[in-house]
Amino acid sequence: MAYTFNGGIHVDERKNTRGMAAEPFTEPKRVAIPMSQHIGAPCLPLVAVGDQVTVGQCIGDNPNALCCPVHASVSGKVVAMEERRVISGAAVLHAVIENDFQYTLCPDLKGVDKPLEELTAEEIIERVRSAGVVGMGGAAFPTYAKIKSALGKAKHLIINCAECEPYITANHRLMLEQPEAVLKGIKILIHALGVRKAVIAIEDNKEDVIELFENKIDDKALFDIRVMKTKYPQGDERQIIFALYGKEIPTGGLPADVGCVLFNPETAVSIYRALSSGMPVVKKRITVDGDCIKQPRNLIVPVGTSFGDVAEFCGGVRKRFARLISGGPMMGQAQWSLDGVVTKGTGALLFLGEEKEEAGQCIRCGKCVRACQMHLMPALLAAYSEKKDYGECERLGAMSCVECGCCTYVCPGKVQIVQYIRNAKGAINEARRRLKEKGEGK
Ligand code: SF4
Ligand code: SF4
Repeated sequence: MAYTFNGGIHVDERKNTRGMAAEPFTEPKRVAIPMSQHIGAPCLPLVAVGDQVTVGQCIGDNPNALCCPVHASVSGKVVAMEERRVISGAAVLHAVIENDFQYTLCPDLKGVDKPLEELTAEEIIERVRSAGVVGMGGAAFPTYAKIKSALGKAKHLIINCAECEPYITANHRLMLEQPEAVLKGIKILIHALGVRKAVIAIEDNKEDVIELFENKIDDKALFDIRVMKTKYPQGDERQIIFALYGKEIPTGGLPADVGCVLFNPETAVSIYRALSSGMPVVKKRITVDGDCIKQPRNLIVPVGTSFGDVAEFCGGVRKRFARLISGGPMMGQAQWSLDGVVTKGTGALLFLGEEKEEAGQCIRCGKCVRACQMHLMPALLAAYSEKKDYGECERLGAMSCVECGCCTYVCPGKVQIVQYIRNAKGAINEARRRLKEKGEGK
């Protein structure tokens, strides 16, 4: 029987690009590389306007902070260093590089010169850091810091292959197209963390990958494939851990608190490349889909490619799109411009048409309560948030909401529940920040 968790929903999968092999897109005339594509401090630029750069050259870093270096994804000339908005809306310094279409590789790139068994965890961590590897499933937490914090704590290494958001198939294609690289990356993680084996957690809608991995795995003792029920949000790390081990991460805690650490398959491949060839993260696999894009497809694009260039490569938009979402429709972020760029954490770009549904009223059906994986009362949270009673929202556990969107999805009253909860969380965080400033906060 497939592993699963309590709550969650069955969504219309819309995995239209499942059968489409990822195609490389190497033609952007310019890329704009944000100095911050990760959780933590932004990079300090290492290049200036007029500099020539090569593919894989480090162009930003901040070794004295939790930070992940960034690298040039094309060769060419730095033509601007300017602040632009990133997908979260924050203003971040970008290095704009004019592509010379030569794709000249940085001469410093080289793989490690000893076998994996002889590498220490510290050496692997340093390599992963210098290659700018982050959680490529969207979280973008620096991978070197995750490995470091899990050393000696994590007994269970989990590779999160769920990809449960509708539309997105980028990881599915990666696992079908480069299974050896995924498995080699996982072996590096097993060695670095000193764990016995890795659990590959994969939803039962990916039979082709399950079969392929079973055939490709040479050392059965190192890999344990666990088939998960296809349900949203099966890819949420809390739900995977609960489904596999019956353990709950405490509020505000981390997987390491219950002895677990999770990585995405694309992150595993990036780790493998960092060690085997020294190639840093300069490309990203994304799914481009939605009813308004002419040619939905899976792409491999240089980091820093604009959404507009991606849309053009996909034949342009079919009609005026109402929403451009970076990520999946459940947890992705709405974008306001085609000038935004693909970063290491971008998993999809969705060009979606108008939704005719108008915000409505609660009819007290209780469906949102049954769907909530965090055992919250979404209808009440939304109602208190609407009244701006954020104290009551906090008391009811608003801060435990992971914004998975299940409640909004199932709501027949079309109440914009997640938006209300986001508002409440924002207000609670702001109130906590003010208290802290006064020295009264927790
Ligand atoms: S699902 Fe919607 S209508 Fe039903 S109780 Fe929740 S908020 Fe109300
Ligand atoms: S309340 Fe939060 S955690 Fe619960 S279903 Fe809604 S978005 Fe998900």
